[in-house]
Amino acid sequence: MLTLEESHVDARRFTSNSKSIEFGPWHISYDISCILPSVCSTKVVCERNDDQFCQFCVYCKELTIPHFPDMVFPKNILTLTHNNGAKISFNPLDALKLVACTTEAIEVSCAEAWQVARPDATKKKRNFDWTFSTDYKGTLTDNISIEPTDEKINYELLKQKDQILFYHDLTLFEDELHDHGISKLSVKIRVMPSYWFVLLRYFLRVDDVMVRSHETRMFHMSNTNYVIREYTAKESKAEDIQIPASQMKEADDVIPILPVREKTLHKLIVYSDSSCSS
Ligand SMILES: [Zn+2]
Repeated sequence: MLTLEESHVDARRFTSNSKSIEFGPWHISYDISCILPSVCSTKVVCERNDDQFCQFCVYCKELTIPHFPDMVFPKNILTLTHNNGAKISFNPLDALKLVACTTEAIEVSCAEAWQVARPDATKKKRNFDWTFSTDYKGTLTDNISIEPTDEKINYELLKQKDQILFYHDLTLFEDELHDHGISKLSVKIRVMPSYWFVLLRYFLRVDDVMVRSHETRMFHMSNTNYVIREYTAKESKAEDIQIPASQMKEADDVIPILPVREKTLHKLIVYSDSSCSS
């Protein structure tokens, strides 16, 4: 009986809402769900160790970092599936797999405060990037080929005020760095009559220390067989940003003025058939 009750509670906690739209050969959908619990929610099930695990235990098994962000939304996932089987998805688990877990993890002024606030974080466990910085660019299936390109995203088209067919902004994870700033990964999808556009953004602000952004934009025009992927990494020390600290709070305000550290453009070839049927 206990097992039944627990699984019922667990199912309710992870009740997710899905929404989707068809765009030519693409099926675009997102799930939204609740926060990752901080402990195992179905010990009876997970201790059997037979590949049936709660979300918390899945995260513990898959990730090497000793702590997760305060808020992880394990089933907040955006998926774009082409009818040939190619799939592009954005999920917090794959993003957190790319958080550095080495002794070279960055040290900044509030590391000590962070340590004090988490008494369970031993000195040994401190050897990971507690800002959860990730250069995740989405998860692609193997049948998508990635090529460098000079073709840019059509920003003029993005600015045009067409009808928005589908829009959502999903938070994948967020941590307030013990009130010393913010570390957040989110993804937005916008589907318009002639294209779809995705912005995956990792934003880090360590108050009075630094600001960093890692942004991946994906742009797909209808009747083409590829997606343009633009990745931009920006970073600055707080002292080098010529705006008041109060204006550094919002990612949209501060990212445009940050210096670019890295920028790459790729074409994701979804299928090689030249007679596009989309
Ligand atoms: Zn568990």
